[in-house]
Amino acid sequence: MENPIAKLVPQYFGEYPKNFLQLLNNISLGPDQNKKDVETLLWQAYEFGNRLHDGQKRLSGKPYFSHCIAVANTLAKWNMDTTTIIAGLLHDTLEDTDATRDDLMNKFGDELASLVNGLTKLKEIQYSSRKEKQAGNFMKMLLSVAQDLRVIIIKFADRLHNMETINYMPQIKKHRIAIETRDIYIPLAHRMGMSAVKSQLEDLVFNVLNPTGYKEIKTKIKSSKKQRLKFINEVIKPIEIELNNYAILPKMYGRAKSYSSIYGKMISRNKTFNEIYDLSALRIIVDKPEQCYLALGLVHNIYMPVQDRFKDFIATPKTNGYQSIHTTIIGPGGQMLEIQIRTKEMEETAEIGVAAHWVYKNSKSSDIDKNVKWLRELLEILKNESTNPKEFMELLKIDLYNEEIFAFTPLGDLIQLPSGSTPVDFAFQVHTQVGMQCMGAKINHLVVPLNTKIKNGDVVEIIISKKQKPSIGWQKFVVTSKARNEINRFIRKEHDKASIKLGEELLIKTMRRMKLADAIKEFQDGYNKFGYADKKSMLNAIGSGILTVREMFAKLRPKDQELLPNEDNTLKTKIYNFNRGEVVLDGIENLLVNFGKCCKPIPGDDVIGFVTRGRGVTVHQSSCKSLPLLSHESDRLVPVHWNVKASEKFNVGLKVIGLDYKGWLKDVSECISKENINISSVDIAVKDSIAEAHLIVQVKNNRILNRLMRKITKLKNIDYVEREGR
Ligand code: MN
Repeated sequence: MENPIAKLVPQYFGEYPKNFLQLLNNISLGPDQNKKDVETLLWQAYEFGNRLHDGQKRLSGKPYFSHCIAVANTLAKWNMDTTTIIAGLLHDTLEDTDATRDDLMNKFGDELASLVNGLTKLKEIQYSSRKEKQAGNFMKMLLSVAQDLRVIIIKFADRLHNMETINYMPQIKKHRIAIETRDIYIPLAHRMGMSAVKSQLEDLVFNVLNPTGYKEIKTKIKSSKKQRLKFINEVIKPIEIELNNYAILPKMYGRAKSYSSIYGKMISRNKTFNEIYDLSALRIIVDKPEQCYLALGLVHNIYMPVQDRFKDFIATPKTNGYQSIHTTIIGPGGQMLEIQIRTKEMEETAEIGVAAHWVYKNSKSSDIDKNVKWLRELLEILKNESTNPKEFMELLKIDLYNEEIFAFTPLGDLIQLPSGSTPVDFAFQVHTQVGMQCMGAKINHLVVPLNTKIKNGDVVEIIISKKQKPSIGWQKFVVTSKARNEINRFIRKEHDKASIKLGEELLIKTMRRMKLADAIKEFQDGYNKFGYADKKSMLNAIGSGILTVREMFAKLRPKDQELLPNEDNTLKTKIYNFNRGEVVLDGIENLLVNFGKCCKPIPGDDVIGFVTRGRGVTVHQSSCKSLPLLSHESDRLVPVHWNVKASEKFNVGLKVIGLDYKGWLKDVSECISKENINISSVDIAVKDSIAEAHLIVQVKNNRILNRLMRKITKLKNIDYVEREGR
């Protein structure tokens, strides 16, 4: 007979609801925890949450609290501590019920209340890829809650369940949540080493964003399962016998890779499903690290390893803590197979990253932060107030799927970098100051260009100079977020400094010329009338051409406007001339720069520099026809980059051909003027009623030129427009 009182006070009768017992079963106890205490506390939380969410329903029609239990269960399976699991159970109470932070604090303590509070804050932000501002909010919030990594881990459990049940959502919301998961949660999970979460989320996102592709892979995986298992078992047998000879009893299993990673490979390598050999990997799980190496030796003894596919992440773990040995072998029938060898502990770290063994560690997150170098770096970058949301999104996305390489300082210190890294990345990785003053580099004792790609095992020596400053050109080749971010910051700072100085100069000079020097202060202090927070940002705006002195007069001294020189041109020319160098050479300053007469490059064109004897560097378009003549002296070619700030106008020759009619030239030149572009010369000839005009126009860059050429092409009776000197 069921006891009716048992339902009310199940702790005395041991008749808990089934889902509570399940959760209790999943919990692992910390070293100084007693099962009964945990049970009592967990029941209190269960009951509290259940009561608060009473009557609320999920879109699926299930009681809302079932979601909270699912989140708590996930956290329990990740071996999180009891407080975190309870926070999972109550994660939506502040947001969706009448409970207050004080209620939580009084009932379950400070730590729990602050975890739930952190989650609530995180929830207030909705990320939308269209709105950078929201990404910015997300970034700030992440920073504030990252004091305790557990908030993010709970958020992952929450997101995982929401993604699993996403089919009940309306289409638009589904899409938004999937994109947010793809852009923020998946990169974060990767960086925190939570690869099981990452691949689960990836497949769920894949299913929402590309249901057809998902179904295709799913069906194919299913239908090829038998065959794959047979192959894996064939590979396993001899390995097992050998390992048993050495008294090692491994756990071995084949594991299909995630649908999204298989699909990604099909796309990126342009292969069909059947052509991808690494659909699954074989894992060998042993007890001790040294057994990993023994197992590796035995595996290589049985099967031929594929050269260059061997990686030892035990000796040198990935930055997110991942440890394992990877090797690819040629199995029966010549089929290749990736084998991953690791210990049980490494396995757990690989699957749930920072969350692994949490319950056995000190629950204070600061200890764990030390192991998550990337997260520390991200936080450092975020703390810098000048980081903008767009950069932050880049930081999250960057090196997500990059492999890591290992290089050494001359003193033998190991530096880990994403593959494709250059000496500049290396320098910034060693220390920000080393990066800032990086002048040159030697790899394995040989001087190399700064854009050289570092290879595994290289010894990299950075040559520094106090006078050296980061160059814009570096942005073209650096791959680490740290280097990119520091360079951006430096350039922005320099640019701001220069604009402020120029802005002040422009303002003061204009006022002096108008004999209004006594009003300078009034103008300088009027920044709030133009919507600027302080004097510096207003001067910055003047210096970068956003705010004109004319506009200031219109507002502050409308009567004195006539005194202004008729054309602002004098001021504008100043701005243009301010940026002296149109091209930036990697690390080389004060060099004479000419433009190739043959191809007349303009900003935006792909360019390359050729070091001439005694006449500095001549810049050509990369596609310039005269370059092949020079290329036998390819050691004199240097990479150059347009200085994006250059605003000077460049002459470009255009050839326009079309059927002649009255007003042909007028139409062409009107079209050009409409684009606000100057024509500096025209030469027209008509032959057999075909008009051929050679024009020289002045444009800032090739974007503007291309737009102009499109516009001219659209005019009637124009046959074609061509840029001359290609
Ligand atoms: Mn939730």
